[in-house]
Amino acid sequence: MLQQVPVGIKRLEDYRPIVGDDGIAEIRALAEPLRGARVVHINATAYGGGVAEILQTLVPLMQDVDLAAEWQVIEGADEFFNVTKACHNGLQGMDIPFTDEMQTIWRRYNDLNARRFEGEYDFVIVHDPQPAGLLSFHGRAGGKYWIWRCHIDTSQPNPAYWEFFVPYISRYDAAIFTMREYVGPGVSFRHLAIIPPTIDPLSPKNAPMGMEEARQTVARFGVDVRRPLIVQVSRFDPWKDPLGVIDAYRMVKREIPEAQLALVGSMASDDPEGWTYLDRTIRHAGEDYDIFILHNFHGVGNREVNAFQTVADVVVQKSLREGFGLVVAEALWKGKPVVGGNVGGIPLQVIDGETGFLVNTVEECADRILYLLRHPEEVGRMGAAAREHVRRNFLTTRYLRDYLRLFRELAA
Ligand code: UDP
Repeated sequence: MLQQVPVGIKRLEDYRPIVGDDGIAEIRALAEPLRGARVVHINATAYGGGVAEILQTLVPLMQDVDLAAEWQVIEGADEFFNVTKACHNGLQGMDIPFTDEMQTIWRRYNDLNARRFEGEYDFVIVHDPQPAGLLSFHGRAGGKYWIWRCHIDTSQPNPAYWEFFVPYISRYDAAIFTMREYVGPGVSFRHLAIIPPTIDPLSPKNAPMGMEEARQTVARFGVDVRRPLIVQVSRFDPWKDPLGVIDAYRMVKREIPEAQLALVGSMASDDPEGWTYLDRTIRHAGEDYDIFILHNFHGVGNREVNAFQTVADVVVQKSLREGFGLVVAEALWKGKPVVGGNVGGIPLQVIDGETGFLVNTVEECADRILYLLRHPEEVGRMGAAAREHVRRNFLTTRYLRDYLRLFRELAA
């Protein structure tokens, strides 16, 4: 059997004050005919990164509207996760080789996990490329509708990777992408849904935190809360460009010497490359003690991430590629304008000049950070717009609604 991930309890009712009566009523109406439907989400890791973050909320909310929803993770050793990390990078367009040996490893672990898949489900949702071969290796038995959910930007994939994956992903009954542009070349799906991800406003990471508690939490890591703080929360990954963030901070620091930078990143269990990139980031920061490089091994969990986002004077997400960027929505929801890379799903969230700034270079990034540090009144204005933008578009209830709609369409 695949490993089952335990989830907590969530109540749709608790979201009523945030999303309103109509939002809740619509979800209940959509869920009613699906009562008892057996749903399983399958992904690669129970911890770290955006997908795990989403499933922690989505699965219990599906349960609360009376679907029999579960979450399972595949198993793999480092050799597999090294290959899947390359797949992640290759599918997002990186120019790296995809050897026969790598392909064999990917197939072997997908076959192995497919043999472990058990049970009978109405909807099987397979997340991302790591387990994308489950349907091919397992066959349709055990699932009435098979859905592949792609969380990454495959608009300009490395052809070696894309051509390898197309036969596996095109077998699914439906595919979900974050943006229409992400569907790579030469593939058509029987059913295509465009659904951007969302955040949970009631999770420990996003629930309102008092400024005093947030300051105390951040101060525990050595940050001086009386001085300006720039924050980026991200895995240590070349696409998140932590080195570029350090460069932008250095330009800011020439003008505002008191500025501090916190790079906060969790080490996901499916991301062995993270440690290497963490090392590079630490080297790049050198002896500057105003740069704080922190991760979950320092005790940075959800509440701490919340505290950093709450305390930050400016939140940055200087990605070079970004499927969606949950961290952007998390910061906007806390009323922080975000200086974000003009890539992938970030422009859905950061409306330039309204909810933050979109930047293409290190210089632009430094320039907009400086602007926000010097215009706190603008931070207030944009922060309010940012929160409302997330409330309307990127809260978890909208995600639940879109999944229910898709289930209904498939079952019709
Ligand atoms: N995250 C976290 N702790 C960290 C760094 C990241 O909990 O130290 C969370 C972050 O808050 C967000 C998720 O991991 O919810 C990252 O999702 P995102 O879509 O931004 O990027 P991904 O890692 O999936 O590429």
